[in-house]
Amino acid sequence: MNSPIRLALVGMGKIAHDQHVPAIAGNPAFELVATVSLHGEGVGGRPAFRDIAALAASGVSVDAVAVCTPPQVRREIAATAIAAGWHVLLEKPPGATLAEVAALSDAAATAGVSLFASWHSRHAAGVEPARAWLAGREVRRATITWREDVRVWHPGQAWIWGPGGFGVFDPGINALSIATRILPRPFFVERAELDVPANLAAPIAARVDFRDTAGAPIAMDLDFRQEGPQSWDIVVETDAGTLTLAKGGALLSLTEGEAPATGGALHGEYPALYDRFATLIREGASEVDISPLRLVADAFMCGRHVTVEAFVE
Ligand code: NAP
Repeated sequence: MNSPIRLALVGMGKIAHDQHVPAIAGNPAFELVATVSLHGEGVGGRPAFRDIAALAASGVSVDAVAVCTPPQVRREIAATAIAAGWHVLLEKPPGATLAEVAALSDAAATAGVSLFASWHSRHAAGVEPARAWLAGREVRRATITWREDVRVWHPGQAWIWGPGGFGVFDPGINALSIATRILPRPFFVERAELDVPANLAAPIAARVDFRDTAGAPIAMDLDFRQEGPQSWDIVVETDAGTLTLAKGGALLSLTEGEAPATGGALHGEYPALYDRFATLIREGASEVDISPLRLVADAFMCGRHVTVEAFVE
């Protein structure tokens, strides 16, 4: 049997604790050997470091790292890991800019290590069946509604409101990671309006109109001020009825009452994500699909930025 991939987690915040630690513990292909975080927080007595250079100098044997920091600091950490000869999993979004992700991709190819720009929402249970069903249909229109309460899901995360923090596009890019996977044709930004609170640098809400290459409109509505029921829904109207993906890609339904094909990551997004990382490492491959990040960058670049009322958590 192959020995497990010795993995270090970098950025011990909400997602590292909620998802990465349990997914690694449940996957025999990996062994968690160390952690890196600003406050040097460890897991279960394993060696803990305050920066990745300290890990590299420590003598702890590492094969791979998963970078779960905010996007603004990810490039330097990933570049150091690649230079050390380690495989790298990047949390979403893979970086704060497109150019830095391209540079990481080139560096990983030169170093001969695997770079995995992960999109956890693509591993939600309904996504692959939705992709399969839509592949044979004519898409007429799609709507994406991603409305959540930032106070509940990102409490105290100042980085999300800074430059490179993405604001409401931090969850919104999850919707785009699904849409770019399931919709049969490429699509692009036609018009965007970004609401930026007067006291912050990133949008709290946004409306983006996309159009696909055959002319079908795709409307996206993002809002971080949602109270009550939360929405993470994608509705696709086709020549053969309407497909709805609800709960962030977990629930698939069809108006025609047709039973969707089963499949997808029924055991959870993050376990599937680590299975994929192990496969990439075993095969000596990388996976870096920047299409969701490119659409967000385009929305920032050609959208109208509107100053709205200050927001205090
Ligand atoms: P978070 O709770 O703020 O955690 C970020 C962590 O990164 C903090 O623990 C911080 O360390 C650490 N950190 C910051 N700069 C660092 C550096 N230079 N070196 C090492 N560690 C550093 O944020 P999060 O919610 O986990 O989100 C992190 C990323 O995961 C984001 O890109 C987000 O989009 C993605 N994500 C989040 C969720 C979610 O539900 N929250 C879901 C999926 C993906 P200290 O604690 O020591 O200050």
